[in-house]
Amino acid sequence: MSSITDPKHLPVMESFYTIQGEGFYTGTPAYFIRLGGCDVGCVWCDVKESWDVRQFDWISVQDIVIDAKKSGAKMVVVTGGEPLMYNLANLTSALKESGLQTNIETSGAYPLTGDWDWICFSPKKFKAPLDQFYRSSHELKVIAFNKSDFNWAIAHADKLNAKAQLFLQPEWSKEKEMTPLIVDFVKRNPRWKISLQTHKYMDIP
Ligand code: SF4
Repeated sequence: MSSITDPKHLPVMESFYTIQGEGFYTGTPAYFIRLGGCDVGCVWCDVKESWDVRQFDWISVQDIVIDAKKSGAKMVVVTGGEPLMYNLANLTSALKESGLQTNIETSGAYPLTGDWDWICFSPKKFKAPLDQFYRSSHELKVIAFNKSDFNWAIAHADKLNAKAQLFLQPEWSKEKEMTPLIVDFVKRNPRWKISLQTHKYMDIP
């Protein structure tokens, strides 16, 4: 599916005020906007219900931002699905006009649109990312599902800008098996840090 040019409406699967559970901003209150639609096809995806965009209502950017502002959050995380299937320039400009910090979580499989304060780049084996994300991302988050993912993570980090933060996160269903391997990896490769899905431990969305 190609990205849609400059939409004034976006397919919102859900939006809610919670705590960012993973990555660099772990523990930070954040308003999540989860856009529907994804064709990346990760076998272990924990939001497969987001894939089919036809089931979601297209909400105006104005209404999305009014709700974000009303929540009291200072930071917004746009996620999916794969949010960059849509042009997000209107959304980020409206969020910024409302004084909100703009963060995105993306696989990097679609061109970057929008003005982002923080880009969390989480490449997937199932659909190759675009080169521009190695330059522009603030954070690389690799989901470790099996042992081969460690070398795969290093290959991405080698291409990344030097300022970016590096995180390895155990895939939730493999958490018991992968976490000790990640601990060992991070001790041997101290530029990397561990990311855990702390929202799942806290049983919050
Ligand atoms: Fe699921 Fe994200 Fe992979 Fe899409 S990119 S299949 S939403 S994990």
